[in-house]
Amino acid sequence: MYISQNYYSLFPQLQKIVRLYQEVEEITSNVKNLFSAKCPEGCGQCCNTACNNIEASIVEMLPLCIHLYEQNTYLMWLDKTNQNLCPFYETERTNHRIGCCAVYEYRPLVCRLFGFTFMTHKFGAIVPVACTTLQKQYSAKKEIIAMYSSNLPHISSISMQSMMIDSVRGNRYPINEAFQKAIEYVVLKMRFSNYDEDLNNIA
Ligand code: SF4
Ligand code: SF4
Repeated sequence: MYISQNYYSLFPQLQKIVRLYQEVEEITSNVKNLFSAKCPEGCGQCCNTACNNIEASIVEMLPLCIHLYEQNTYLMWLDKTNQNLCPFYETERTNHRIGCCAVYEYRPLVCRLFGFTFMTHKFGAIVPVACTTLQKQYSAKKEIIAMYSSNLPHISSISMQSMMIDSVRGNRYPINEAFQKAIEYVVLKMRFSNYDEDLNNIA
């Protein structure tokens, strides 16, 4: 994921969410290595679900929206937000993409955490937050969960870190709605900043 630091002053939350995504990358890589857990090549079944099941916030969508604004492709993606699937879900895998996500490098937080983080079950056990495919991989290594239980990353505490970046724009919505709100925020901010620049140039 590449985001120019030039945007950090315009979007005060950006640097923090980029840093959190870098940390999450490291955390989930450690889990993958510890358990030798891996999604089957080309699988994207977890994305093939109603938008209500995948929640994101404006803050979590910022890197993606800035990227799409730079590419000037955001209108094409907005057109896809009326369907009840994530607008970025692709049913067919293409050569240059991982899984079925058209924006994999810029995907929001929940897509980075699902499969490779844990939660505390109501009876106190630490369980993976994962699909049945990955659950089977973790089940085969229950002893590792027991051994590292106090150090395994919890999805709720990482999600909370994201929400604390911005108390208003940290609220979560179904992913298509979150994208609509986030792109609106980005476009308005970008346009007003260009307007301010024009005024400064005239002055
Ligand atoms: S988390 Fe599960 S469903 Fe999603 S891509 Fe990985 S293996 Fe497939
Ligand atoms: S953004 Fe990508 S990874 Fe996340 S739900 Fe949509 S298609 Fe799946």
